[in-house]
Amino acid sequence: MGTKSKLTASEAGYLKLIYRVQEEESGKVGTTAAARAFGVRPATVAEVLRNLARKNLVRRRPYRGVELTPQGVAEARKLLRKHRILEVLFVGLLGLSPESACEEASKLDYYVSEELINAICRSSNHPKTCPCEKVIFEDPACCGAGGKKK
Ligand SMILES: [Zn+2]
Ligand SMILES: [Zn+2]
Repeated sequence: MGTKSKLTASEAGYLKLIYRVQEEESGKVGTTAAARAFGVRPATVAEVLRNLARKNLVRRRPYRGVELTPQGVAEARKLLRKHRILEVLFVGLLGLSPESACEEASKLDYYVSEELINAICRSSNHPKTCPCEKVIFEDPACCGAGGKKK
């Protein structure tokens, strides 16, 4: 199966949530908790999770909620890189509070291109963490050996 199946905006939101809970808080994500986080019904969550599973981004584990596949982790990191680079821009350049920066970034991260994010990354000197001190994942095309040259 191709790895190019497009994510929808709401699927992207779930991937970010699952990544944060699973990788950064070592918790598990149940359907009910996810429904609460998004203010939707559990049936809606189940539907999105089914789609993510079809795209091979999550695995569903009986009694353990869902788990990201390695591909899902990679996809979530790409999204969170965008999210956190935007936060750096909003706080550093526009003076937003970290909370509103996070809120605004959540509305935009899915839509911005990697090119734009890398341009912001370069002009901010490849920040390592976002305003709330979460790690900003590197894009080798930007922050790696090739892009690091000053
Ligand atoms: Zn945030
Ligand atoms: Zn960079």
